[in-house]
Amino acid sequence: MPARTGQEYIQGLQEQAREVWLGGERVKDVTTHPGLCNGVQAIAALYDMQHDPNRRDEMTYVSPTSGDRVGLSFIIPRTRQELEQRRTMMLHWARTTCGMMGRSPDFMNVNFAAWAAAADYFGQNRPECAINMRCYYEYIREHDLTLTHSLINLQRSRTVSGMFNLEEGTALRVMRETAAGIVVRGARILATLGPLADEIAVYSPRLARMTEGHSPFALNFAIPCGTPGLKFLCRESFDLGRSHFDHPLGSRFEEMDCVVFFDDVLVPWERVFLLGDVDLVNGMATATHASLHTAHQGAAKNVAKCEVVLGVALLMTQTLGNAHLPHSEERLAELMLDTELMKACMRAAEADAQLDAWGVMCPAQLPVEITRNLFMTAYPRMVEILQLLGSSSFMLTPSEADFRSPLAPDIEQYLATDTATARDRVKLFRLAWDIAGSAFGSRQVLYERFFASDPLTRARTLNAIYPKAEVMERIWEFLRDDDSAEQSPHSTACPRPSEGTKG
Ligand SMILES: Cc1cc2nc3c(=O)[nH]c(=O)nc-3n(C[C@H](O)[C@H](O)[C@H](O)COP(=O)(O)OP(=O)(O)OC[C@H]3O[C@@H](n4cnc5c(N)ncnc54)[C@H](O)[C@@H]3O)c2cc1C
Repeated sequence: MPARTGQEYIQGLQEQAREVWLGGERVKDVTTHPGLCNGVQAIAALYDMQHDPNRRDEMTYVSPTSGDRVGLSFIIPRTRQELEQRRTMMLHWARTTCGMMGRSPDFMNVNFAAWAAAADYFGQNRPECAINMRCYYEYIREHDLTLTHSLINLQRSRTVSGMFNLEEGTALRVMRETAAGIVVRGARILATLGPLADEIAVYSPRLARMTEGHSPFALNFAIPCGTPGLKFLCRESFDLGRSHFDHPLGSRFEEMDCVVFFDDVLVPWERVFLLGDVDLVNGMATATHASLHTAHQGAAKNVAKCEVVLGVALLMTQTLGNAHLPHSEERLAELMLDTELMKACMRAAEADAQLDAWGVMCPAQLPVEITRNLFMTAYPRMVEILQLLGSSSFMLTPSEADFRSPLAPDIEQYLATDTATARDRVKLFRLAWDIAGSAFGSRQVLYERFFASDPLTRARTLNAIYPKAEVMERIWEFLRDDDSAEQSPHSTACPRPSEGTKG
């Protein structure tokens, strides 16, 4: 089946009943629920882009098995050119959502493409797992499915940290094995896109060793979101049901985050990719390089997001007439730096990309991983800059209804600036508020701080991969030069200040 249209995606959601809870009620149809339907429409628009005749070659490629044109984010890149083509495709999607839907389907697509190429890794102890992985990848590629994912076990306390926190009764675990598959129970966070996805992928980035060799917590599988016993509990929706004028981003790009409860859920054997082996779970990211590919997708999202924040900031200062003031220029320059740094890292990651042992062209590790670390602190600062530039103008943002009220003439007269009509000014600042102040915007900041794990873990990752020896050796070399200079016969030729001639 070729790449899906938006309508086919929506139909897929409607055909698969799933247990989604929002605001104390079970959602009957995610495609029509007021808190979710606009997010569905946004994802549908991404699928429709695949059918834009002007973009066909940029959005799709020919499937190696069916010969159909399938989504380009599914490609297993074998050359730098394919890596760049995939980035062009991901950037189109990211720009369409202003970088505000971090979990658009390409995120999981690139992940499974990397895993499929490295399928033998999953089959080391259970050969059938390698077959399962290859078949599953082909299945989601040929059906153009949307995946959510949930990596972290819910924690009752934080007295022990993250991966060691495998509490009985809370952390997801295998309860029993049956002829049909494994039965799992527990709770996981944080399935962004959960209600809007066809399937959910479940695995752990790292896991503590419980017993020698085998652990009921060591899992990697994927199942349909409608699987019996699977329950998605949504946070409140930040799509407040207002117009695009009032909430330009929240009314379009609500991707929703969920806790997922697994109530004795049966995972068919053919959907099990790893089972019980802690070492294989822990080695997965390094061996398959999947995280380099998801970072590549994240980098495209970051570039799109930087461009939006910068564009908004430039228009804000132009509208307020303070673009030329030194403090504005300093802050705008910071946003320009972030934008160009992000592009440079992405470009470096592609330019220095290398084939791995699986024959996959992988973005260079350091620049692509740095895009994650950088954005954790850069994005909150970018939002702070918007707040500093905007000040009270964020509060001078009457709603669309106010422009239709008896006060409209006053609004039109007094809220206009030298360069903008009142309506344009308000429209712009309502967009800025959706980035820098609203619930939707605040969630974006939280997302950028934490979606790629916590800052401490990210810092430790960077420490682990950075080529430290090179810079340390350069310092020793410098100090050695100093030693040899002291012993050199020429050292007297140029007296040190304390030895200078007197009188
Ligand atoms: C909006 C959003 C969307 C997300 N989407 C997804 C998703 O789609 N799929 C998914 O699987 N996950 C998702 N995540 C979850 C994300 O993976 C986790 O939030 C992340 O792993 C951090 O875990 P935590 O929230 O439990 O934070 P915690 O582990 O509780 O960390 C909280 C703070 O404590 C600090 N800390 C933790 N341990 C220590 C320690 N030992 N010493 C000192 N400080 C410490 C951390 O650095 C951090 O600042 C999402 C998160 C957010 C916020």
